[in-house]
Amino acid sequence: MDIEIQQLVQAELQRQRKGIELIASENFTSLEVIRTMGSCLTNKYAEGYPGRRYYGGCEVVDQVEQLAIDRLCSLFGAEYANVQPHSGAQANAAVFLAVLNPGDAILGFDLAHGGHLSHGSPVNYSGKVYQAHFYGVEEDSGVIDMDKVAEKARQVMPKLIICGASAYSRDWDYKRFREIADEVGALLLADIAHPAGLIASRYLNDPLPYCHIITSTTHKTLRGPRGGIVMMGKDFPNPWGRTTKKGDPIMMSSVLNSGVFPGMQGGPLEHVIAAKAVAFREAASPSFIDYAGKVIRNAHAMAEAFTDLGYKIISGGTSNHLMLIDLRAKNPDLTGKEVENALIKANITINKNMVPFDSRPALQTSGIRVGAAAITTRGLNENDCRQVVQWIDDVIRNKDNDSILAEIKNKVNQFMLSFPLYPELE
Ligand SMILES: *Cc1c(COP(=O)(O)O)cnc(C)c1O
Repeated sequence: MDIEIQQLVQAELQRQRKGIELIASENFTSLEVIRTMGSCLTNKYAEGYPGRRYYGGCEVVDQVEQLAIDRLCSLFGAEYANVQPHSGAQANAAVFLAVLNPGDAILGFDLAHGGHLSHGSPVNYSGKVYQAHFYGVEEDSGVIDMDKVAEKARQVMPKLIICGASAYSRDWDYKRFREIADEVGALLLADIAHPAGLIASRYLNDPLPYCHIITSTTHKTLRGPRGGIVMMGKDFPNPWGRTTKKGDPIMMSSVLNSGVFPGMQGGPLEHVIAAKAVAFREAASPSFIDYAGKVIRNAHAMAEAFTDLGYKIISGGTSNHLMLIDLRAKNPDLTGKEVENALIKANITINKNMVPFDSRPALQTSGIRVGAAAITTRGLNENDCRQVVQWIDDVIRNKDNDSILAEIKNKVNQFMLSFPLYPELE
């Protein structure tokens, strides 16, 4: 046995058990998802798609992948799904590769306002290969002004418009985005990496009727294994008039499949795809729908508690599982970096995050991002969430007092004992 690695795995389990996990992009999968990922399916090469593989011996993994596709389509009411992307960034890269040419203009949500690197940031390949433009939020409201998105789209005439973000606490007007995309002749992509689980359970607007293509991760609010997916509400003929040798129009489903493989990736991770299938089944259950509702109520309770303590939430609150807090309103000297570091000493994990129109650089930041998806899986309710916010405020007020931070850490560890995580792994 590899003692060194097994001890580290145990140490990570203990860290997850005793801490309060508020990183908005994290969650705790079921033990069944974890065990499925750790299966012999990892041994199988299966380049291609079910029924059309480049390797023999795929008769079992074909069924696994088809089940994952069918369950995902039924969960979101999609006509097409690709479950092979290794991650959310890979899913976006595959879609860009499939529908864009190098140098094409794209229009996405500004990283500095809560967007994602893979939507055209200059440090990401997407910002190097494509001509990236951005829309953002208004400084006073913290909300996207759709008229300004339309104006920007008319200016830059993008081939692809992307809606979706990593730190935006309000819902998206996909219908209006589609009107804008149609006006300028762009395809519309919704990247629902963060709210996917809340969309699947119908608490948030449904992008499928309006967006040509949908990408997501599977490990955030969807609570599956780490991975990515691509979907379409309805398949449609490619808009560039490409045809098969027989002269039939090539459908977008095959354009997107080719973007993932062979365009972007090699062999699919069938062990992860099997775990995705497990998670999609779980996400269709009444208990998951109940969970998603609790996530939203917990996030709301936290936003209210922060506001009562004098913190400023960008956009004034949250409609989903997360919130972005501008620390400057509470204390202009506070940085996200020092708050993140102080909270770690109390075993509370958040991440520093730029706020829109931030005066500090990305490694300092004036904000923090807080999410309720993971603690809701642990079993915390709205009252517990208010207690968590109180501890966060205690930490921030005593950030330089290590003995008080140690006291809070003890309370946190004691508290989390009452929310068992993977007790079967004892
Ligand atoms: C998290 C996220 C991704 C990337 O997911 P990875 O699995 O880390 O590659 C893509 N888009 C958005 C909006 C995200 O929040």
